[in-house]
Amino acid sequence: MVKLVNVRKSFGNLEVLKGVDLEIQPGEVVCIIGASGSGKSTMLRCLNHLERITDGEIYIEDELADKRENNKDLMKIDPVKVQTLCTDLGMVFQNFNLFPHLSVIDNVTIAPIIVKKADKNEIEKIALDLLKEVGLSDKKDEYPSRLSGGQQQRVAIARALAMDPKIMMFDEPTSALDPELVGEVLGTMRHLAEKGMTMIIVTHEIGFAREVADRVIFMDQGVICEQGTPEDVILNPKEERTKSFLNKIL
Ligand code: ATP
Ligand code: MG
Repeated sequence: MVKLVNVRKSFGNLEVLKGVDLEIQPGEVVCIIGASGSGKSTMLRCLNHLERITDGEIYIEDELADKRENNKDLMKIDPVKVQTLCTDLGMVFQNFNLFPHLSVIDNVTIAPIIVKKADKNEIEKIALDLLKEVGLSDKKDEYPSRLSGGQQQRVAIARALAMDPKIMMFDEPTSALDPELVGEVLGTMRHLAEKGMTMIIVTHEIGFAREVADRVIFMDQGVICEQGTPEDVILNPKEERTKSFLNKIL
């Protein structure tokens, strides 16, 4: 569904991704773990063009979305096509990033209305279903500042889903939450996984990764250091760097 081929990314002299190869299959739930600064967020941001890669190739839905060498485009890829491909990737951030001046329902419907020219009545119906799914039907007219962190994050998930993405990417979706609110957001994500959504989740919630992931990836210093089933990577890590990371956080 998405594929990275030998992807490198530098910020000036700092090489953050040092040749990442990764392919995600439809319906797969992939959890990415790794120390701060190892390049997890950068990898997600490169996937959906929030950052341009320096080298390598990116495919979305088997279509070439980016191909670069030495920070230069190797070929002209139609920007409209790239934008369309990127709408297949929903993204949920650590800090929710809701629009503060819009109600919950407007937060959920604005992107489909503007980007996809969705019909307002139709998308509102869909949005209400999504809010029901994340347990927030009663908050549709509320403003983000009057919601708890867990509620805001569930709105952010509904908002990403409203674009009807093929893949959902989560970048530490629970790390800004008070501990007692983490469970409700993980519950919503678990529910999505059970429904067969393809998901890429950067998380420090090792218990969740163990339970929900089909595959766990440990990133270290800009490369995928180890990957496999949760059993393999979390319970029986082979690499010293994985062992030492897990020892620190478990
Ligand atoms: P964390 O667990 O703390 O979120 P991470 O694995 O997501 O870490 P990244 O955010 O991908 O790490 O950052 C990797 C490295 O890239 C860090 O050293 C960071 O300072 C650097 N970096 C990230 N974004 C930029 C940027 N826009 N400009 C310059 N350096 C950046
Ligand atoms: Mg990060």
